[in-house]
Amino acid sequence: MLDDTHDPALRSWVDSANDGATDFPVQNLPFGRFRRAGTEEPYRIGVAIGDQVLDLKMALEQCPWDNFHYRMLEPLAAGNLYHLMSLGPKARHEARAALSNALRHNSVQGPFLELCLVPQARAEMTLPCRINDYTDFYTGIHHAQTVGKLFRPDAPLLPNYKWVPIGYHGRASSIIVSGKGFARPSGQMKGTDGTPVFGACRALDYELELGALIGPANAMGEPVGIEQAEDRLFGMVLLNDWSARDLQAWEYQPLGPFLGKSFATTISPWVVTMDALAPFRKRADRPEGDPQPLPYLDSTENREQGAIDITLEVWLQTPQMKFQGLPAVRLMQSSFLDAYWTLAQLVAHHTSNGCNLSSGDLLGTGTLSGPTPGQGGSLLELTQGGRQPITLPGGEQRTFLLDGDTVTLRGRCARAGFASLGFGECVGQVGA
Ligand code: MN
Repeated sequence: MLDDTHDPALRSWVDSANDGATDFPVQNLPFGRFRRAGTEEPYRIGVAIGDQVLDLKMALEQCPWDNFHYRMLEPLAAGNLYHLMSLGPKARHEARAALSNALRHNSVQGPFLELCLVPQARAEMTLPCRINDYTDFYTGIHHAQTVGKLFRPDAPLLPNYKWVPIGYHGRASSIIVSGKGFARPSGQMKGTDGTPVFGACRALDYELELGALIGPANAMGEPVGIEQAEDRLFGMVLLNDWSARDLQAWEYQPLGPFLGKSFATTISPWVVTMDALAPFRKRADRPEGDPQPLPYLDSTENREQGAIDITLEVWLQTPQMKFQGLPAVRLMQSSFLDAYWTLAQLVAHHTSNGCNLSSGDLLGTGTLSGPTPGQGGSLLELTQGGRQPITLPGGEQRTFLLDGDTVTLRGRCARAGFASLGFGECVGQVGA
């Protein structure tokens, strides 16, 4: 649904939001949870605008609001994003309209809100909300095909792939926000002679994914139909599903990923709402010759605009590159349009057995690789299972990640006639 908040002509009184290269123009307005770095202030919800954050706690105190908007902002000022998430699309539209009005050029609130900005460089971000449950899907068909080929050359794509959105239950406790480091995991893996050994992971990888945060919950026993599934989505983040390939290869059969994945998952701090993404919706058609989805995963709306045009990138910088003054290098680029299943299909499928999703639950898309070999969304793909090292600026080689390596995911949406916007960065450093 498009409205005046998507008008490409809108400008903000925050100058940096009017730079065409920013991820956070006034048409985006993503939510994040933060406090000023170096303080022990309670976390509050903020809105990214240009290179600043509008602090909604300060905004509530320093700016006059009518009763309706004051009550809308109160939970956000207290650091609670759940409340808005749980209310659904109508409340989210209202909050977006109010923030768009307040942040646009010549707004009457502008002079008050100028005092409520915190530079993003001085904001300490945390997870946007407590994430109680996390499911990771496998919607990247090119990833499924390439990885399938490595493990099963004769049958890369399993027969259920084009019928069932495949997923596994991820671990919510080890989800961390962008910028936080994590230790290289240890675990059990096959030794060189085939005998299992326990030790530090030697095949540490990233996975380029998007995550969707659930808005309103559904009750247990009450599936969400595909027609209502979009209303259950609140917004999206970038997601890095760090993976220990050696642990994974040894443990994954028959029940799927476990310790090879559960040690850390990084998400970007800014939740880009489904409203901000509305201009970038696209048709979601099955390739010719593929089976049509079963009725519970199919709707006219889903076919007409179930997909979202998001361009994704992975960047890498090693400690040696940093030491030599070399910037991060882009390893690949892909598009969320290549995903085989839409977010609405994931919600409908996840709840089809009566499973209840809660506000703030996270659904990962799975690794979003593109169709060509250079578009692998993980090192596993780019190095053909660790057999073909990639060469980096400065001459170093990598098959998998070494300690100190920094992986940055980026995502951006562009369409002629609309303001481009992005997700900010999802950064993680190994062993930091
Ligand atoms: Mn994954």
